[in-house]
Amino acid sequence: MARYTESVCRLCRREGTKLFLKGARCYTKKCAVERRATPPGQHGVRRRKPSEFGVQLREKQKVRRVYSVLERQFRGYFEQAESRPGVTGENLLRLLETRLDNVAFRMGFASSRAQARQLVNHGHFFVNGRAADVASYQLRPGDRITVRERSRSTAPFKTASETLRTAQVPEWLSVDPEKLAGSVVALPRREQMPADLNEQLVVEYYSR
Ligand code: SF4
Repeated sequence: MARYTESVCRLCRREGTKLFLKGARCYTKKCAVERRATPPGQHGVRRRKPSEFGVQLREKQKVRRVYSVLERQFRGYFEQAESRPGVTGENLLRLLETRLDNVAFRMGFASSRAQARQLVNHGHFFVNGRAADVASYQLRPGDRITVRERSRSTAPFKTASETLRTAQVPEWLSVDPEKLAGSVVALPRREQMPADLNEQLVVEYYSR
């Protein structure tokens, strides 16, 4: 599967905001946005005021990069969101939020979505008792995620079992730190999804 292999900090600098793609490092002074908030590249500092299209494009890229989804798959999410009842932008965010890698990250099993995706791809999780190693797996209310028995003693989950006790878990999810398990209680409402993402601009971008 194609994937982005360049420095992810460049993506944050390009969007001019922290996208929190590197886990703990994002909260330190080593963060590239903290050190140099200009867009990357030789002419990064010279960029002019963006057009309306430029603003929509940047927001689409930002949302796509937060969830680490490539263009074609992101477009597929948009088409699914459009075909569902309700508000297209909210449907889009909901589809992204309920991906297995994102839910594992939100539950506190990983310090970043990238780490969560790797853990999923390496087969460390079960969904409803069955092995699930596809990061884009869509979770539904009532689905239960557990950590594979023999993975529990590995370093990432030892760390997670300690951080889970104090982790802030969104209301639409529940986590049992003792059992290293969690459930999707309900689909997230708009106010339970990231406030700094403007999904309306993404809808406008694809509706041109
Ligand atoms: Fe982005 Fe994190 Fe890198 Fe900072 S450290 S630029 S928030 S990925």
